[in-house]
Amino acid sequence: MKGKIIRGVGGFYYVTADDLFTYECKARGVFRNESVKPLVGDNVEIEILSGEEKLANITKVLKRRNALIRPEVANVDQAMIIFAASEPKPNLNLLDRFLLMMRLQDVETVIVFNKKDKVTKSDLDSLYRIYEKSGNRVIFSSALFSEGIEAIMDELKGRTTVLAGPSGVGKSSIMNTVNPDAAMETGDLSRKLKRGKHTTRHSELMMVCRDTFLVDTPGFSSLYVPDIEAGHLKDYYPEFEEYEDECRFAGCLHLKEPGCRVKQAVEEGAISRSRYDNYVYLYDELKDKRRF
Ligand code: GDP
Ligand code: ZN
Repeated sequence: MKGKIIRGVGGFYYVTADDLFTYECKARGVFRNESVKPLVGDNVEIEILSGEEKLANITKVLKRRNALIRPEVANVDQAMIIFAASEPKPNLNLLDRFLLMMRLQDVETVIVFNKKDKVTKSDLDSLYRIYEKSGNRVIFSSALFSEGIEAIMDELKGRTTVLAGPSGVGKSSIMNTVNPDAAMETGDLSRKLKRGKHTTRHSELMMVCRDTFLVDTPGFSSLYVPDIEAGHLKDYYPEFEEYEDECRFAGCLHLKEPGCRVKQAVEEGAISRSRYDNYVYLYDELKDKRRF
């Protein structure tokens, strides 16, 4: 039978199989000698030892499509980051940092601004304008009024999604609306996924429905920017692309160079000021990191 590893603790792997039961497994078999460490998110083949006690052996790890380092999980299709449009006010620097981190790992991110009921239409428009050219889909939702939930479900369905966002933005409320069966306590999403302190560093998958999984990312606010050259940071901003060729200098970093077409586009409002300012901020941070 085939299944997916949803949790790994102390040498045991919990595999939700095609029969929708979750089996406690040990990794036996050939791959054990080949130093393939099974990861949460891996699709595996299992051999059932006891159908009654739900015990099995993992006999094979199927080919991975990808394996993220942060969070450590395999076969991720996409990320979804949830912020509140207000209360708490969205930290767009943190958001851009997350987008960058996922882009570096080749994972697309869907941006959700929840609590749309708390702000005006024009507030939503300006949030939309900041991200419309970032290469990310933007969804506005209200868990309170059940708005935008269908759009969120459409994104999640049939995929494995890394879910992130600071606390208080309505993550649990949204997931409860998306999947009432999961019956999470509000404000308790990560706790439910973590189940005790000793596992806090491990990723876990939560099955929303068949073929639809969520991975919660604990410790969201402590995200760091992975080790890339500051000079390459610009390549991760899709909104710069159409202007870059017109900068006076080849290899322009769009910082203080004269004749920079990207900066001009920022002045003209064609590139979002917020995205650009966060670019400069991240650039400085990466550059400083290099010096030590
Ligand atoms: P989490 O920490 O991200 O899981 O956030 P919760 O789901 O616990 O929600 C935090 C608070 O925001 C709770 O008091 C919710 O009732 C409230 N909340 C969640 N979604 C919405 C929304 O769309 N609109 C409004 N006005 N409040 C919301
Ligand atoms: Zn430039």
